Amino acid sequence: MITADFHTHTSFSTDSEASPESMIERAIALGMKTYCITDHMDYLFPIKEEPFTFDPDAYFDKLTALRKAYRGKIDLRIGVELGLRDEPYTRAKVKKLCEKLVSDYPFDFVIGSTHVIDHFDPYHKDKWNGRSAEEIVQMYYDSVLYSVRNYDCFNVYGHLDYIIRYIPEGVTVDLTKFDSIVDTILKELIARGKGIEVNTSRLFRGGRTNPSADILARYRAFGGTTLTIGSDAHRTEQVAGAFDKACEMLKELGFKEYSVFKKGKESRQKL
Ligand SMILES: [Zn+2]
Ligand SMILES: [Zn+2]
Repeated sequence: MITADFHTHTSFSTDSEASPESMIERAIALGMKTYCITDHMDYLFPIKEEPFTFDPDAYFDKLTALRKAYRGKIDLRIGVELGLRDEPYTRAKVKKLCEKLVSDYPFDFVIGSTHVIDHFDPYHKDKWNGRSAEEIVQMYYDSVLYSVRNYDCFNVYGHLDYIIRYIPEGVTVDLTKFDSIVDTILKELIARGKGIEVNTSRLFRGGRTNPSADILARYRAFGGTTLTIGSDAHRTEQVAGAFDKACEMLKELGFKEYSVFKKGKESRQKL
């Protein structure tokens, strides 16, 4: 049974309106024992109206008070989802900002995610500039590999293969072409003592986990054991979404435990 949701958002994120209290209450109602809030910090996000950053002082003030208020009911952990970047001229600045944030504030847990490639969010297809879906997927994985090799300030990589969500309907991309770079990413993560997350947001909506069962099986075969589970909830009804299905799937793949983090230190719990 999974009783820890390690990827969730609140109104500290540009794309969520949910109060931290409402999300925590929902997690308690669902029987979660540990709940980690990981709001977006995407430094230098290319859309000015969507800054995807928060004030870390206000964040820690609020969440530290809530951790106290909910003690005995749920163990609240304070995390962040950091947007990692690989574009020349941007990456050095983003890296400095990310490292400063993580060293200045006592985060329990840090997700590293790739949300922006070549100064655009691939969610916006009008920004693809004539590039094919296959090119976009390649750019995304190149960017992830760069970040895995060059950033150290994270614990797990977020929603590893989520770029395939954006392949337009009716377009077929042979995803086996990316097996080799995905395997390199997995091996680099393992070698650097980093993990991955099982993101259930699409499983909850009738799709599958990010990354896929196939990638998770390869991660395990390469010796990967650090695995956090996250709903990526932006609204209360998404908290711990499809955790029962994810638990079943992971057991079928041979995993016996999942990871939780406190002050950056990992511990394991039984699936
Ligand atoms: Zn994300
Ligand atoms: Zn997220």
